[in-house]
Amino acid sequence: MVVAGGGIAGLGSALALARSGRRVVVLERDLLPYEGSAEEAFAGERPGASQMHQTHGFLARIVVLMRERFPDLLGALLDAGCTTMSGTAALGDPMPGDEDLSILLVRRSTFEWVLRRAVAAEPGVELRSVAGVAGLLERRSKGASAPAVGGVVLEDGTEIHGDLVVAATGRRGDVPAWLAALGVPVPETVRSSGLMYLTRWYRSKDPVVMPLGPKAGGDLGYLKFLVVPGDGATVSATLAVSTEDRELRRNLSDPERFDHACRVLPGPDEWFATLDLEPIGGVRPMGGLINRIRTFTDARSAPSVTHFHAVGDAHTCTNPLYGRGCSLAFVQAVLLADALGAHDDAAEAGAAYEAACGEQVTPWYHHAVELDRSGADLEKGEAVDQVHRDRLRALMGASQSDPIVGRAMARLFNLLSLPSELDADPRFVLRAAEIMGDPERYPTPERPGPAREALLDALALVKEER
Ligand SMILES: Cc1cc2nc3c(=O)[nH]c(=O)nc-3n(C[C@H](O)[C@H](O)[C@H](O)COP(=O)(O)OP(=O)(O)OC[C@H]3O[C@@H](n4cnc5c(N)ncnc54)[C@H](O)[C@@H]3O)c2cc1C
Repeated sequence: MVVAGGGIAGLGSALALARSGRRVVVLERDLLPYEGSAEEAFAGERPGASQMHQTHGFLARIVVLMRERFPDLLGALLDAGCTTMSGTAALGDPMPGDEDLSILLVRRSTFEWVLRRAVAAEPGVELRSVAGVAGLLERRSKGASAPAVGGVVLEDGTEIHGDLVVAATGRRGDVPAWLAALGVPVPETVRSSGLMYLTRWYRSKDPVVMPLGPKAGGDLGYLKFLVVPGDGATVSATLAVSTEDRELRRNLSDPERFDHACRVLPGPDEWFATLDLEPIGGVRPMGGLINRIRTFTDARSAPSVTHFHAVGDAHTCTNPLYGRGCSLAFVQAVLLADALGAHDDAAEAGAAYEAACGEQVTPWYHHAVELDRSGADLEKGEAVDQVHRDRLRALMGASQSDPIVGRAMARLFNLLSLPSELDADPRFVLRAAEIMGDPERYPTPERPGPAREALLDALALVKEER
């Protein structure tokens, strides 16, 4: 089997496929180190996955999936210095299910490096880097209802044939163009998040111990912020601004001003006051943050192409603010291996995989779009009426401490319970109705922070470094 792309989804798919007895070649365009250390992986660049140096949170969903399917991988991550952190510490006495609600604190570069080593050690997997895929080879199959794929052509013209091709080429890969060359349309829906990330990394001279909490996140409407510890005593800070707010973006792109903003934002201020943080490099910007879903089936839910599957961002992309991409990529890797294990017929396997994605991945795309529209950016949710907004605020406020709503929301935001499952949970529905019925009793915890103009005034006093 040929996997195009050696990021999270490609490596996850290679692992899942190899462990179900397949022989796999992974073709990655970037030059990737297979040896070395987590620090070397962090120091390197990843032009094909430039988000590598952006803040990544690894949700409970990927932790549970690794625990169940790849416990050795989870073990290797912990051995490499990653830690897990409970998401229920503030929710009173322990309850059944709490063991699932831990997130993983690790740099994206370390996660990928450990994963790559696990895949490289797998018998039956060949990893090739500097091997860019240029397009697909069509398989001649008489009487087939849909075009079939028989391999790939590399950018240097080499042909590689395989039983099937897994496209794991990420957000910016060429999947629609590859399939268009075979006459296969790939309809897609794109919803921009309207945000761009500005991220800076630091190394703490002191151990990062947590009375500080796992992260310091917040939303001032015009600015979202997040501070997350990684492995190796690193800490990353991300400030997310509207793509339209050039003035704020320009100011926060300056390293000195970025640091100053972190020192005045509620939450990050504690981190910057408590830890002796030494910057690692400048401020890294990243735009193009979208929600996108692609369709690989026809109107009868039959695959529009066989012997070809897309996984990860090449299939479904969600606003990075919700930290879902790596978890969903791993979910798809496992769904694909399971569908191929259960069906010998290529069209049946394709239909089963897409149906499983429809149940377990698509709802998270819609949920992210919905959150963008209303929940997460409460200030901007113009289309949402005030009553709905107040109720949502009350629910989010109560989720910080209420044992029932807190756990339900933690399961939702960690992709462990689908929105529809939450709606069908009577304990949650009852409690949520109580809270939303009386929003004034459940105010959002106070998160004072500077208004946009005040922040800009404060930044103007800081000499620009550039
Ligand atoms: C700013 C930002 C922040 C994010 N934060 C989080 C987070 O907190 N938590 C989370 O879970 N997710 C997060 N994500 C999403 C996450 O990074 C992606 O969902 C995840 O990397 C998807 O994995 P992938 O393998 O599909 O794509 P990628 O990891 O991007 O990998 C694609 C790979 O394909 C290679 N490639 C592309 N084209 C070719 C070709 N033609 N031939 C060969 N190789 C090719 C690329 O070089 C790359 O290595 C974030 C994303 C962004 C942009």
